[in-house]
Amino acid sequence: MDLKQHIRHVPDFPKPGILFYDITTLLRNPGGLKATIDRLSEPYEGKGIEAVIGIESRGFILGATVAERLGAGFIPIRKPGKLPAKSLRESYALEYGTDALEIHEDAIQRGQRILIVDDVLATGGTAAAAAGLVKQLGGELHGLAFLIELSFLNGKSKLSGEQVYSVLQY
Ligand code: AMP
Repeated sequence: MDLKQHIRHVPDFPKPGILFYDITTLLRNPGGLKATIDRLSEPYEGKGIEAVIGIESRGFILGATVAERLGAGFIPIRKPGKLPAKSLRESYALEYGTDALEIHEDAIQRGQRILIVDDVLATGGTAAAAAGLVKQLGGELHGLAFLIELSFLNGKSKLSGEQVYSVLQY
């Protein structure tokens, strides 16, 4: 199955100049959802992943489904102020201004083998902040997996030293 054929490109969303890769058109297709999770999970089968982290919000859909496939637990990383218990925060730079992500302080056990999953690797700021949170909590980051990598934005440069995998590249 050609996954790229099912991804909708929406120009100028959420703001002018951004080409948005809309995966809802892929995920609503029963074969599309299965093929997506097959291909995201496959490199990590039998690798001893104990927990998958999904980044809000499309990372929740993919991350939780990959976790179930791998027999791992699922841990959310959320936008500030959404998690109910004591949380750790990491800020990161955007094109204009800053944003932040949070994780529950007790979400990860020291040495636990972690996989981070998100839909799109763009500039890499979001993923680098998530990786920073995992490390601050003592997790062993096995790698980061994305459905889509926008190679021209070179997000991998913010993740040097990490194992980065993407199913589709643009
Ligand atoms: P970045 O921090 O620049 O790597 O941005 C990654 C986050 O923004 C991911 O959580 C994506 O869901 C979202 N994102 C960035 N660019 C796009 C895009 N062109 N289409 C869809 N989602 C995007």
